[in-house]
Amino acid sequence: MMGQQGGGQDRLFYSFNLEDHVPQNHLLRGIHRFLDLSELRGHLAPFYSHTGRPSVDPELMVRMLIVGYCFGIRSERRLCEEVHLNLAYRWFCQLGLEDAVPDHSTFSKNRHGRFRESETFRHVFETVLQRCMAEGLVGGEGFAVDASVVKADASRASGIPGEQTIDWRDSKRATRAVREYVEALDDDGEATTRKSVSLTDPAASWTCAPGGPAFFAYSTNYLVDVQAGIVVDVEATAANRTEEVDATKKMIERVEERFEVRPKQLIGDTAYGAAPMLGWLVQEKQIEPHIPVWDKAERQDGTLSRSDFSFDAKKDRYTCPAGKHLQTTGRTTADNTVLYRASLYDCQGCALKPKCCPNAPARKIPRSVHEESRDVARALSGTDAYRESRKKRKRVEMLFAHLKRILKLDRLRLRGLSGARDEFLLAATAQNLRRMAKWLVPRAPNWGLVPT
Ligand code: SF4
Repeated sequence: MMGQQGGGQDRLFYSFNLEDHVPQNHLLRGIHRFLDLSELRGHLAPFYSHTGRPSVDPELMVRMLIVGYCFGIRSERRLCEEVHLNLAYRWFCQLGLEDAVPDHSTFSKNRHGRFRESETFRHVFETVLQRCMAEGLVGGEGFAVDASVVKADASRASGIPGEQTIDWRDSKRATRAVREYVEALDDDGEATTRKSVSLTDPAASWTCAPGGPAFFAYSTNYLVDVQAGIVVDVEATAANRTEEVDATKKMIERVEERFEVRPKQLIGDTAYGAAPMLGWLVQEKQIEPHIPVWDKAERQDGTLSRSDFSFDAKKDRYTCPAGKHLQTTGRTTADNTVLYRASLYDCQGCALKPKCCPNAPARKIPRSVHEESRDVARALSGTDAYRESRKKRKRVEMLFAHLKRILKLDRLRLRGLSGARDEFLLAATAQNLRRMAKWLVPRAPNWGLVPT
């Protein structure tokens, strides 16, 4: 017999328990198990007044933001609607059926105000990371580093030529992103000239890094423990290699300072293989660089390269294929290299000269002051451990793919470097929580029903 739905929506009283309506294998149950925000109120207490009307509970706002970043809900207005309508989201945010969801404007005020001043999102990120460590997901043996470019909330049309003079202190332009940019200029001095500068987000870099037409962007830098792919630190920078390499040092030092964890090896691509970076890793930090050496010394025109000369560290000299010695005064040049020179007398009468230094009276070889560290990296590159670490580096790339495809963070919603920092911290927090929920919660038979 065909059934018919009764129109029973006008009942006044229900016997309803939210807990019973959230599936046991829902991803948010796993996340809830590992998210402990008990210290959040204490962390934020100095930033709230002791008098006046009670504010929206900061834990509620952070929980809502975590829902948004975990499920790729990028708009705060939509997030409020979703939390209002979705029972699992309500349950995770510890709201009852009749509790009001905060207005979307509350997020904007708190994000740009006390959350930023108190570094709330870093506090939440580190709380979650601490839990990952307690659960044994961070081995501390090997870290991998990489950066990914994310579009800024600034259109191409907002750009003007970099050489054009702009009065950034003009009150008509005084948006939050511009004020932050001006403050950074006051701290760091004059900005470097760029090809294009956005009027809406002047700190964003004009880049065509992934290929294709240029756009305004920031870089998210991840330092990842390769054991389980946990993000141990994240940093927002301009989308350029110099700042990305500097961010790596900052992240390694911060993890060491906060958690007393220093990796045995750092895995990265050629961008991190410049001599000063390798020198810092090997000499200062005693970290094995599983990084290809950035080497411009190899000649491509068929003449003898530096690798055709042997170096004697004890005697501090090179010996050329003709058996002659190249000596140095030991003076360091501006780019941190030491020059080794053959004698004019030796080279003038040498049969190998056309293949060695056809356009110079005598051969000279520059050697970086970090050459020993570069040699350490070169020696590691032939080992099985290195081949293994190249495969593990893919974990960072997978996290970036997940960030953009699943969490939908392919374009920022907040402007300025602080906005990028907030968004990247929340996204990395969401990724770590999802990783714990998926790795550590036993799988139920209908696990496939859980959102991915
Ligand atoms: S040209 Fe000079 S440096 Fe080069 S092989 Fe001959 S002697 Fe050695």
